[in-house]
Amino acid sequence: MEKKNLCDMPSNEFQDSGHKLIDWSTNYLKNVEKYKVLPDVKPGDIISKLPPVPPEEAEPFDNIIQDIDKIILPGITHWQHPNFMAYFASTASGPGILADIVSSTLNSNGMVWKTSPALTELEFVVLNWYKKMLNLPEEFKGIIYDTASISSLHAIASARENINLDIKNRGLYQIPKLRLYCSEQAHSSIEKAAITLGIGLNGVKKIPVDSEYKMITSELENSIIEDINNGIIPFCVVATIGTTSTTSVDPVDKISEICKKYNLWLHVDAAYAGVTAMLPEMRQYFQGIENADSIVTNPHKWLFVPIDLSVLYIKKPDVLKQAFSLVPEYLKTNEDTLVDNLMDYGIQLGRRFRALKLWFVIRYFGVEGLKKRIREHIRLAKLFANWIDEHPNFERLAPVPFSTVCFRAKFPHLNEEALNIFNEKLINKINSTGKLFLTHTKLNNKFTLRLVISGIRQEEKHVVDAWELIKNIALSLQEEF
Ligand SMILES: *Cc1c(COP(=O)(O)O)cnc(C)c1O
Repeated sequence: MEKKNLCDMPSNEFQDSGHKLIDWSTNYLKNVEKYKVLPDVKPGDIISKLPPVPPEEAEPFDNIIQDIDKIILPGITHWQHPNFMAYFASTASGPGILADIVSSTLNSNGMVWKTSPALTELEFVVLNWYKKMLNLPEEFKGIIYDTASISSLHAIASARENINLDIKNRGLYQIPKLRLYCSEQAHSSIEKAAITLGIGLNGVKKIPVDSEYKMITSELENSIIEDINNGIIPFCVVATIGTTSTTSVDPVDKISEICKKYNLWLHVDAAYAGVTAMLPEMRQYFQGIENADSIVTNPHKWLFVPIDLSVLYIKKPDVLKQAFSLVPEYLKTNEDTLVDNLMDYGIQLGRRFRALKLWFVIRYFGVEGLKKRIREHIRLAKLFANWIDEHPNFERLAPVPFSTVCFRAKFPHLNEEALNIFNEKLINKINSTGKLFLTHTKLNNKFTLRLVISGIRQEEKHVVDAWELIKNIALSLQEEF
């Protein structure tokens, strides 16, 4: 098919195709429950359906859309499906999806204020709104990154800059060993940040946890003292509110006192659970958060904003800026002394207009609407936890502060080893039905199933159905054992 000119897709074709694609998206979301949550594919199946070389000639747009249905959809794990109860879910709401269209349409790049003043200023305003929603002190400044991993990387880079050893200029040459502390349950992104920043995995001390998977603060203090005595420089503690395996909550208030005493940067990883700071009844889990130097929370996890959008709140933005700011001649502008240039706050230069989707979502649902949805997810998770507690053949393996339930099936005639094999079979059987997707973890060597409720399409009936399915498969599997 010959395309008529050397410019973009003609506007009438863009409009027709756009309408078709919105219809496609509408149908997908309307019918998402008809799909198996996990696709029936083997590694390489999608590659084998795609030509190894690109088309030399232009193709009609309709052919591209058709291949979404024919090739891509069969290989999709449906994150938008209400029976996706694995990992920490991330669901995209209607207003969030539409905001992404606006972001791509404008295609603004927020390198500096001048390259799109509205991008920089909307980010500033929306992150101030979100800060108020989360009841965080005014003094925190927010900045958007793609993921929590990258937000934490920037927080830990700021912590490293904050020790005043001029590592920005000198690098780590002839610098004594630095130490970062987090609990055994901290997310792997903290170790990846340590790798990236030259701290190394040996520079990360993993502090043991108690029976509820919370950092033991006396162990933290002992490690700090031991390191200081050995000439190692402690510089940062990462506390987690909502750890990845069990959603346990480190005692941030106590940890913050230790950080104050030894002058250490406190970074709080609340990537998943941070949104619940909106709810007065959840404030108990955020005690001491006002003492943090930085906090990460991901609207793309439990605030119905399409992936990716993570927010870092930081009390000393100047330290972050000091760590990363480099302004070559071609990026200098007349407004440099008057405005924030977002490129100064991180390693990337270009950035897409992500604040739009948070803005759309907050305005469309309203703060009250968002709170109600999150509160309902917590209620549903507690409901499920009660069913587990009341059933003789199931047991819960961790407290449920938020919307994640850790559990396993249990039968008196099976020992620990057999129970591990049983529960691994159980999750594989559950997931192979395509009716539910759960993931697992290991807690005290026990194979543990996790069920997470945080999707915008999840209702009580989905949790009821999930429980029926889990029970039925467990009881029928028991006959085989
Ligand atoms: C999900 C999660 C992360 C990683 O999030 P990304 O945005 O995927 O990098 C880090 N920490 C915690 C506690 C998480 O739940």
